[in-house]
Amino acid sequence: MVLVSLVAAGALAGLVPEAPRAAAQQPDFDAVNVRSFRVQENVYMLVGAGGNVTVQIGADGVLVVDTQFAPMADKLLAEIARLSGNKPIRYVINTHVHGDHVGGNERFRRAGSAIVAGNVAFEIGGNAGALIIAHENAQRRMVDPGPGAAPVPAAALPTDTFFDDEDEVYFNGEAVRLLHQPAAHTDGDILVFFRKSDVVSTGDLYVNTGYPFVDVARGGTINGIVNALNAIIDLTVPRDKQEGGTMVVPGHGRIADEADVVEYRDMITIIRDRVQLMIGKGMTLQQVTDAAPTADYDGRYGATSGFWTTEMFVEAVFRTLGGQS
Ligand SMILES: [Zn+2]
Repeated sequence: MVLVSLVAAGALAGLVPEAPRAAAQQPDFDAVNVRSFRVQENVYMLVGAGGNVTVQIGADGVLVVDTQFAPMADKLLAEIARLSGNKPIRYVINTHVHGDHVGGNERFRRAGSAIVAGNVAFEIGGNAGALIIAHENAQRRMVDPGPGAAPVPAAALPTDTFFDDEDEVYFNGEAVRLLHQPAAHTDGDILVFFRKSDVVSTGDLYVNTGYPFVDVARGGTINGIVNALNAIIDLTVPRDKQEGGTMVVPGHGRIADEADVVEYRDMITIIRDRVQLMIGKGMTLQQVTDAAPTADYDGRYGATSGFWTTEMFVEAVFRTLGGQS
């Protein structure tokens, strides 16, 4: 539990470990509106700037997965208040450490100390606010982000962490399972599975906007990504062998179902296997890159500019499979 000096609510923006995504993707927040989509049953997806936000609403209040960038917090909170009829935020879950997923933590935590409304009076001291749950590795990297990055303010840190494979919350009449996926996008990623609503919120373990960001500096590996995609597929069940059934909220991009994740998993596995084969032949990174192991997917997922290019992805695959030079 952390309490709390009054750190300016905006201070979080850009402070969280400098994920390339967070650094390169700072949009004009004033110009971004929040849109919400009902995913299924009690679960909604909110889209603004940064990672998708998942919200579960019921008689007990509101549970939120991820909080985007700090400057988006008021707009997100207003939309959550509208959707929930001003129910209080009780839980915030962080899927991982990156600033585009945890930047609003402090504001959400404080809002959780009162009924969510357009203007929430901060009340510090007597009121601990919403609980913030994360994997221990994610919290550790918020506290000690490494050279060149400022740590996250105390008031924005997770209040409850776990280090086992799994944690769980029972809220609004449903079991919510938090499933750690080791060494994947980072070393502190969790899937959040709403068992009754039948929705999986994946954080950046699954995105459908590009190749997966393997944050090697924070413990990510390509094999961990493949394992996490397989874990998502294990949780999801299609409806009558068609589309629908269990729904998937990705870290970035549109709402998906099992078929979408299977297609993505197959692609990532094929690319992984190609690079592994090339490493086995003794090829260097330059030779692997020249051989273009992603070529047939680049039209849909590739990037030649921006924070995470195809070349960076291939290098991360190469390095985390043990490729040398
Ligand atoms: Zn991320």
